[in-house]
Amino acid sequence: MADTTRPINETPAHDAELDRIFELQKKAFAAEPYPVANVRTARLDALIHAIEANETRIIDAVNSDFSNRSRHETLVAEIIVSVSAAKAAKHNLNRWMRARAVATPLHMKPAKSRLEPQPLGVIGIISPWNYPVQLAFSPAAAALAAGNRVLIKPSELTPATSEVMRDIVRAEFDESVMAVITGGVEIGQAFSSVPFDHLLFTGSTSIGQRVYMAAAKNLTPVTLELGGKSPAIIDESADIEAAALSIAYGKTFNAGQTCVAPDYVLTPRGKLNETVDAIAGAARKLYPEIDTTADYTAIITQRHFARLKGLVDEAKGAGAKVIEVGSSNALDPQRKMPLTIVVDPPEDIALMREEIFGPVLPVLSIAGRDAAIDHVNKGDRPLALYWFGNDGAARDEVLRRTVAGGVTVNDTLLHVAQENLPFGGVGKSGIGAYHGEKGFETFSHMKPVLYQSKFASSKMLHPPFSEKTDKLLKMIRKII
Ligand code: NAD
Repeated sequence: MADTTRPINETPAHDAELDRIFELQKKAFAAEPYPVANVRTARLDALIHAIEANETRIIDAVNSDFSNRSRHETLVAEIIVSVSAAKAAKHNLNRWMRARAVATPLHMKPAKSRLEPQPLGVIGIISPWNYPVQLAFSPAAAALAAGNRVLIKPSELTPATSEVMRDIVRAEFDESVMAVITGGVEIGQAFSSVPFDHLLFTGSTSIGQRVYMAAAKNLTPVTLELGGKSPAIIDESADIEAAALSIAYGKTFNAGQTCVAPDYVLTPRGKLNETVDAIAGAARKLYPEIDTTADYTAIITQRHFARLKGLVDEAKGAGAKVIEVGSSNALDPQRKMPLTIVVDPPEDIALMREEIFGPVLPVLSIAGRDAAIDHVNKGDRPLALYWFGNDGAARDEVLRRTVAGGVTVNDTLLHVAQENLPFGGVGKSGIGAYHGEKGFETFSHMKPVLYQSKFASSKMLHPPFSEKTDKLLKMIRKII
């Protein structure tokens, strides 16, 4: 995560190249404010081609940025997810572009009302390092489908991937349609000060706050896709083995460097040992040889690796039992960290306060459903919540009494992969959402339009007012 020590109210930085491309895109949009469906489809095809034709380059670049990123994880979470977002947008484009009918109240009839989606203009996208391709290209697909121009600022922590993204976008798109600007924090600051028509930021809550403040100076609307501590709650009624496998998978995919990874587990008091053993057993099955397998992803930088080790050391120092699932002796140079279960740690250590964002999993025993709900509600509203069990009433109670960005019941991560469900946070885990039709609407102005009829009765309410007006108002008050 980035440097948060800079003061928030600094003068916005500028970058000449960024300003040039923004102005170019603005002019191009003004010349073509409503691209027809065919033009949008061609742009989505270009994005699909850019990704699919460069699959191997993308896989290699992500792998070198992480030092080791599972090829299958890159295929699933970067290539397939981005392409499926673009294909779904293409497939649904005509329906999404259609005006939505809105009911007109009786006293305003026979007027008609509609919401007419309109492209917003130039969209800015700031993306993080953990899924560098997906988190840039999947919102880009929604923005292009909605008829906009797109500027992307990827993370400086994945330089090889950012270069590939810049090259492949340059090869497929005129820069007046879509472009990638690379650079570090300075470019990020300059980027968030550009008066975009909408800015989507994916990253940490602390940087999200800065981006929100910079955007506020231009009254640029934002979607903030942030992080947080996402709980996995195991109910008394759960099948512990099945829950453990889902949790182990969700926590070790991309080595836990996933915004919606289960951050910690709450399990019934009498089932603590069984839960810990089942999660450890499941992780061993998923990665029998984490030292040697290319399936297990490394930690993005030495700084992030040291931070995670520091979290575990603090927990050990506080007397918590720590279980490393697999040897870590040979792993330091590769920055691979085994799933590390921390059993019932004290509440006041960093592990229990900060988003973990790595394969360290606190498992807490909890005395009943109310205590689990209270535990979640004591913290910031999480990006995701996972509930495991077979008791429908218990499930509904937890879902109703906690507020999370999104939920998967009896599995982890999957609500994010369901393109037709909006994805976003709530409270400190984010503002707004995208994916599927919601993404199209996020990057559109859903313009309300009222079409008056030539038989309009509204003239009867014009002055000069009379007894007739009073009678009419009385009638309207009866029907509203
Ligand atoms: P980060 O906030 O450090 O960086 C995100 C982006 O912001 C990068 O491109 C970075 O260069 C840029 N940036 C840094 N400082 C900036 C500034 N002052 N102004 C403008 N831009 C700036 O996040 P990260 O470490 O790359 O990613 C990890 C975080 O992202 C975690 O908290 C994770 O939960 C969150 N995340 C959320 C989602 C989601 O969809 N909700 C997805 C992935 C990651």
